[in-house]
Formats: sequence, structure tokens, C-alpha cells
Amino acid sequence: MTKLNKRQSEAVRYADGPMLVLAGAGSGKTSVITRKIAFLIEQLGIPGRHIAAVTFTNKAAREMKERVGRIIDRKLTRGLTVSTFHNLGLNIIREEHDHLGYHPGFSIFDAEDAKALIQDLMLTHGSTDAGDELNPVQMTISSWKNAMRAPAEALSKAADEREQRIAIIYGYYNEYLKAYNAVDFDDLILLPVMLFRQHPDVLAKWQRKIRYMLVDEYQDTNVCQYELVKLLVAGRAAFTVVGDDDQSIYAWRGARPENLAQLEQDFPSLKVVKLEQNYRSTSRILRAANRVIANNPHAFEKVLWSDHAIGEEIRIIRCRNEEAETERVATEILDQKLKQGLGFKDFAVLYRGNHQARLLEVKLQAYQIPYRISGGQSFFAKSEIKDAMAYLRLLINPTDDAAFLRVVNVPRREIGPRTLEQLSHYARARNVSLFKALGDMGAQSHVTDKGLERLRRFAHWVDATCKRLHSDDPVQVIKQLFTDIEYEEWLHQHSGSPKQAQRRMENIWYLVDSIQRMLDDGKGTADEIGVEDAVTKLILRDMMEQREEEDDSDKVQLLTLHASKGLEFPHVFIIGLEEEILPHRMSIEEENIEEERRLMYVGITRARETLTLTYAASRRQYGEKMETIPSRFLDELPEDDVRWLGLGEADVEVNQKKGKATLSALLGDLGA
Ligand code: ATP
Ligand code: MG
Repeated sequence: MTKLNKRQSEAVRYADGPMLVLAGAGSGKTSVITRKIAFLIEQLGIPGRHIAAVTFTNKAAREMKERVGRIIDRKLTRGLTVSTFHNLGLNIIREEHDHLGYHPGFSIFDAEDAKALIQDLMLTHGSTDAGDELNPVQMTISSWKNAMRAPAEALSKAADEREQRIAIIYGYYNEYLKAYNAVDFDDLILLPVMLFRQHPDVLAKWQRKIRYMLVDEYQDTNVCQYELVKLLVAGRAAFTVVGDDDQSIYAWRGARPENLAQLEQDFPSLKVVKLEQNYRSTSRILRAANRVIANNPHAFEKVLWSDHAIGEEIRIIRCRNEEAETERVATEILDQKLKQGLGFKDFAVLYRGNHQARLLEVKLQAYQIPYRISGGQSFFAKSEIKDAMAYLRLLINPTDDAAFLRVVNVPRREIGPRTLEQLSHYARARNVSLFKALGDMGAQSHVTDKGLERLRRFAHWVDATCKRLHSDDPVQVIKQLFTDIEYEEWLHQHSGSPKQAQRRMENIWYLVDSIQRMLDDGKGTADEIGVEDAVTKLILRDMMEQREEEDDSDKVQLLTLHASKGLEFPHVFIIGLEEEILPHRMSIEEENIEEERRLMYVGITRARETLTLTYAASRRQYGEKMETIPSRFLDELPEDDVRWLGLGEADVEVNQKKGKATLSALLGDLGA
């Protein structure tokens, strides 16, 4: 176990009141959290089940859990919560769903699901084409939720007609979510907060449960998350939050680095500890990080030094185009791995946007380099696959309420939230599934005839399809299903482009083919399976895929800069260091470079031993080949610590522009 320095140990041992650890990257903030958990359990005798530590990404939470597992006996960690904010919220909703008017087994709408619902509501309520408005509307609704603004309040405070329209959609959106027994990501935080405000007894119960709270990456909390923390720690004020204002990279999603300063006002007895020694990176890497971030204005003065060796120069590699860039990354990884006897998992490739991973994947595959993408969307997380799976689940088990609610209005059948609410009310009173209730519900019910009629038609169709699934060729029946519901048309209405709609439909056919293959594989043998088994297997595969995410075998890690926060790797590549990529085009337009610079700072500080930055001199964009401009952040690096590579004879112009092509860099390149 590493020996804590004086300040770290002071932070670990202080448990009498609120505490903030404010410090730069790699200074051991997360280490303080994990060591403090051990201290609370082992030294102060607080049972693990009374301690909750939260962070932002699943990967970071998993990493934190592992670190705790390494320093403390597993028996003692029973019941300990180490999770994301969203998971903590989910646990609270799960346990208190009654108070919130949700039924067990509620579903979670991810951003794609939410988008489809919002788009549908926009089309139903006046928009002829949701198109460009869709994303801003979704963002606005999300920001209202994160600011804890209910639809009625959003409507009354609407600044103009446009906001009024969005507020109305927001109201419907919430009603439908409730009717579908579903919550969205923002609800995972918002609903617990509202619950706690309305039910002091429930809050008191959770305050008794969570006696000590720790928050990592505190600079990225939004209003709602901070409120959740405040509610949970109220009274006792036993908590530790750690953060770094220079790593605040989620302002676009409502994060408020001001929450750092706010703490001192809300908790006057707050004890602040600053850490100054970086234990992660070589001096060169740290110097580069410090130099880049010095270009931003600073609210808090921080010092960060390292007594690690100076280390290798930071390499900046200019590549001809994006093909050459990704190819270079692949060959560099193979080369370094071989020369230095490293594992694939010692390498990470970071990028600004998910789309940059595609080409990289192709190259890594070509060189047979195993890799894992974090935060990318898995096949089963795609909304069209979730729709299709819900239909299949409903066919093999009509009592699956979550599946029923997911597809009842996909495609649109104009079954309103009140109709669904009454159906669910009827079902609950009799303790039967929604599907069964629908069959039972007679004319005496209060459901408006139109709504009921539409529901009945849907039920009949499901019924008939179920029957045919068992009498006819099941795969043909499933294919017919998608024709019946005119799913392709629906995808066209709900996709960004015809091409995207087509891709999504292809995913559906891929799924259908998989079922065909499963059925064919066992045909005539003892392993012959029915369509139910095939679907069950698919559901299982979905869960396996989720598990796969957690596997930590020897693979190169590919992840966005955002997703890399809190993590560290011996050898880091950051690709696409070009204007309009990093910094992002939108940030340049909005003159919001500071957050992009923090993103660059986060990226640089992930590296322990070597850092390689690449850019493409030309890149295909919107189908056209365009010259690029190297990122301004490259100019901000300390000259003595970098080595430029790839500046061949044809690059005079670039050399002049950068003024950086020193003789030594060119010689270095020749030698490399
Ligand atoms: P970030 O800002 O990137 O989240 P952090 O401040 O959370 O970084 P940690 O991840 O906790 O930093 O620590 C960085 C590295 O330094 C880890 O590998 C950790 O094990 C190591 N480390 C932390 N404290 C010490 C120490 N006192 N002695 C030796 N190594 C340490
Ligand atoms: Mg950390």
C-alpha cells in the first residue's frame, strides 16, 4: 500500500465535519476517497452499509470499487455503496417507487429512447418536422430537469413563445414517461430529490442509512446532484467531496463548477485541504499539462509538482490524412508493445468525439490488435433493437408489462397517457398484467371509447401474431410483424437522415437473421430450439454484452476524453489534435475555448509514462477532403518538452506556420 503524504493523511483522518479536497490531476484525490472508506470502516467502525461513495461514470465507479477491494477485507465492505450518481438515484427510486407512483420493474429511457418520445410528441403537437429543433428541445427539457424546474414552472417562466412550446412538450413528455412506467436519466436524480423534499420521513430513513458520503469529481455536479447530496447529508454534514475546477468538462450538461465555491457558503465549517504532489505522470507530462491549463483564468490557486523522472519527450505526430493517422497509432502500439514488452491494456487512445473511433477500429482490426471501446453504444442499447426486443418479449410473454408499455405507441397508435394510466390502475387493482387487464376490461370501464378501441385493436393483433408464431414459420411471422407495424416508415420519420433510417432497419434484419441462425443451427438435432428459446437466448446475450463491458482482459482502451476522466494509463495517444475537432467547432463558434482546454488538460494528465499527440494534415469531412489546421493547444505545450514528428519535406508550409520545426525535431524524425 502506498504511503499517504501528510495532507492526504490529514484528509483521510478528518471525519468530524464537511470536507473539500481541492487539487489538480493525479494528486491522489480518488485515493483519498478510497483510503477514507477504509479508515471509516476499519478505524471508526462505521459499517460499510452506512457509507456511500459516488462518482460520474460506470468505469470510474468500477475502478474505485476495485481500489477499495484491494485495500480492505471484502467481508467489511458488505453493503457499501460505490456507484455512479445515477445508480444511487436508481436504488432510491427502486426502493421508494410506491411513493413516486411507479410500479416495480419500471424501465429506464436512455437518451435515444427519450429522443424518440420527444420527437413523437413534437409531431403530434404541431411541428411538421421535428428536424433541427429536436436536439435543442431535448437539451432544454434536460436542463430544466437538472435545474429542478417542473413543467408548470417552466411554462410560467418561459421567456418566449418557443420556450412555451417546449414547456408544453415537456409536460406531455413527463406524463407519458409516467404512463409507460419509465424514467429518464435526469429523473434518476430528480425524482429522489423531489421525493425527499415531499416526504421528510423517507428522507430521514435514507439519512439514517447513509451516514457518511463521499463524492468524487465534485466539480461536475449539477444543481440537482448537489441538492441530492445536500439533502442526504443535512444535519450531520458528514461528507467529503473531492474535485478539481480545471477538470470541469460537463458545463454543457448543466455541471456547475461554482458548486465548489458554493460549498463554503452552505457549510461554513467546511474544511478545505489542497494537495500539490502529482504521483501519476512524468515531470514532462505534468509540465505540459500545467502549461496548457495556465492559459485559462483561475478561481483557485493550485500548485502541482512531481518528483518523478523527467521522462520521454511528448511526441506530436503529423500524419498525411486520417487514414495515415489511425494507421500510425496502430503500428506505434505494436512497435512499443514489442520493444518494451508491454501489454495491450497499457495503451489508451483518446479522442474528442465517438465518431473518431470508427476508423480507428478498422485499423486496429486490420492489425489484429484487441481493443475495447468504453462508453460506445452496444448493439442491444440501440433504440431500434430495444423496440424489436420488446416486441419479441411481448410475443413470447404477453404479461411482460415493461415490453407492452415500450411498444404500445411505437409506432404511434395515439393511445394517450390517461388511457394507459387507467389501464394500469385496473390491472393493479386486480393484480394482473396490462395485457390481461385489457382483455378483461369491459365496456363498464371509464376509459374513453376511442382509447380503449385502439388498445383493443393492438391487443388483438398481438394475440393473432402470437398464435401464428406457433403455427407458421416463426421467422416469417417476425418479419411480417415489422411490415404490419410499418416500422420502416416510422424509422424514417424518427431518424436524422434516410441513410441512418436504413442503417437502423438493417440492424433489425440482422437481429431477425440471428434468430433464423439459432433456429437453423439445432434443427433436426437434440439441440433443436423453439422461437421462445431463441428470444430468451438473445435476452441473455444482451446481458452478457453488458458484462463484457466490465471485462478487463488485455485490450487497448479506446475512449472519449470525457469518458477518460479519473482514469490513468501508462501510454496515452490523443488523436485528432486539429482546430474544429479539439477545440471543437461549436466551442470555437461560441468562443468557449476554456472548457475545451480543460478537456485537453484532462487528456494529457491521464498519461503516466508517455504521451503521443497526433493530427491529420488533411481530413475527409462531409465527403470532401479538407486541409486542417493543427490545434492551438499544440502551440501551448512547452517547446523543450515536445518532439515534432512527421514533418517531411513537403511540410515546409506547416513548419513555417507552426515555427516549431526545429532542426532537432526533424533530425529526431529521421532517426525515428
Ligand atoms: P484525477 O484528478 O485524474 O482524478 P486523482 O487526484 O484522483 O486524479 P488518483 O487517481 O487518486 O489521483 O492518484 C493518481 C495516482 O497516484 C494513482 O496511481 C495513485 O495510486 C497514486 N498515488 C496517490 N497518492 C499516492 C502516494 N501518497 N504515494 C504514491 N502514489 C500515490
Ligand atoms: Mg480521481
